[in-house]
Amino acid sequence: MSVERAAFITLHACPLAAPGRGKSGGMNVYVRQLASALGELGMKIDIFTREHSDVANRVETIGSNVRVIHINVGEPDAHLDELYDLLPDFLEQLNKFREEEGLEYDVVHSHYWLSSWVGRELSQELAIPHVVTFHTLSLIKMQSRAGEEEQSERSVIETKVIATADRIIAFSPHERDAMARLYAADANKITLVPCGVDLEVFRPLNQKAVRSSLGLNGEKILLYVGRVEPIKGLDLLVETAAQMDSEDGVRMIVVGADVNGDREMDRVRQLAREKDLEDKIDFVGQVDHDDLPLYYNAADVCVVPSYYESFGLVALESMACGTPVVATRVGGLSTIIHHGRTGYLKSWRCPEAFANSVEMIISSNGLQQSMGEAARKRAEGMGWDNAAALISVEYSALTSSTTYGDNSD
Ligand code: UDP
Repeated sequence: MSVERAAFITLHACPLAAPGRGKSGGMNVYVRQLASALGELGMKIDIFTREHSDVANRVETIGSNVRVIHINVGEPDAHLDELYDLLPDFLEQLNKFREEEGLEYDVVHSHYWLSSWVGRELSQELAIPHVVTFHTLSLIKMQSRAGEEEQSERSVIETKVIATADRIIAFSPHERDAMARLYAADANKITLVPCGVDLEVFRPLNQKAVRSSLGLNGEKILLYVGRVEPIKGLDLLVETAAQMDSEDGVRMIVVGADVNGDREMDRVRQLAREKDLEDKIDFVGQVDHDDLPLYYNAADVCVVPSYYESFGLVALESMACGTPVVATRVGGLSTIIHHGRTGYLKSWRCPEAFANSVEMIISSNGLQQSMGEAARKRAEGMGWDNAAALISVEYSALTSSTTYGDNSD
């Protein structure tokens, strides 16, 4: 059966919030782009999210067939940890809107554990299939870096949803295997659908021209893009620059805002000071998503030093712009980057090894160019239309197969 209308639940990650500011990042981009690509296929998508302080309208149309519906529960600026208690209210308001508009959904697709609670309830009430994309899972996150803390309810909900969801979307084999290992997930219920990239926006540009538009000189540019928080491992970028022979001619650019005031930024700045690299690192703050191609194109190498990435959109965006990536071999990054062809993957958080890989690229125009070309080519097979096509097949298969609504445990 073809699916006419789907409800997306993304309680805390509004697709209209600017990525790179506060907690907004890859999930916000994913929801917006996937919904838009499904909308292009003719499916009607209603995205339910919580009202927040930047909201202009309660209901906003953001593309063909796609609407964002802001649900008013809790304080607009409530902290992520406070949202769990708001879930029943959110569900009630959502249902009220649905009933007022006489909407019927064929499938509910939830994003992140908080939303998965809502998705599970809604699927049972409406007797429709529940598809879930977790984006990150607490047990994987806590294993990846000592000191990561999570709300106690999180893994309980994740376990329950993994046991009862009709389909789970994983971004990489790593995520799929970790779900089976840590949550006893049934591998038959998991489908691998990698994220995508907007190939029109993220494309190769003239490096000289973009550099002059950003006021950069002839230094070699190492670029970091993303939220600034401990799990992103930014200290490794500074340690890497400190190990490089050519550190005098190298500049690090960090795009993205700090998630907790300036705590992590200050820590990284302090490290740069200790390494005598303070004047070699620029924190440019949050940059509009559509302006990022300028930065990726200005860079010689994009460095992704994360402790964990469930996918790693930044790596794919950089590759789509023809810029090689040097990254930690974690999570989804190893499915995006072809080691030795489109960049390098490092198994250890070792600054010497990172520096060595970065220097190999920036010291050889030929290698930088051929890796850049291979990177773009690889990205060309990963547009959002691919992800949407795979997901719509899953929706159709689910809606034609079973009777839903009796999956409570
Ligand atoms: N991003 C942005 N502006 C910024 C910083 C980041 O638009 O100033 C976007 C970036 O382009 C990417 C997303 O935020 O699409 C980050 O996604 P990623 O998967 O790399 O990390 P996550 O946020 O999911 O941990």
